[in-house]
Amino acid sequence: MKYLVLLGVLALAYSLWRQQRCSPPPAQRTPPRPTAAPQDMVACAHCGVHLPRDEAITHNTRHYCCTEHQQRDAR
Ligand SMILES: [Zn+2]
Repeated sequence: MKYLVLLGVLALAYSLWRQQRCSPPPAQRTPPRPTAAPQDMVACAHCGVHLPRDEAITHNTRHYCCTEHQQRDAR
């Protein structure tokens, strides 16, 4: 009976040891975050500040940093 308990403990320890070895480390396997894709920059036609194209206000072929500059340039 004593050996049966010892065998059980050894089996449990072995299975735990195997589980630890086989499971991949959780944080190290994640790929590095992709860096932000380069964005097209445009200059405001009124003040000349550069900003990403998707943040700019486009009027005809001209780009503006804000509606105020777009309205000022339209006059
Ligand atoms: Zn501007």
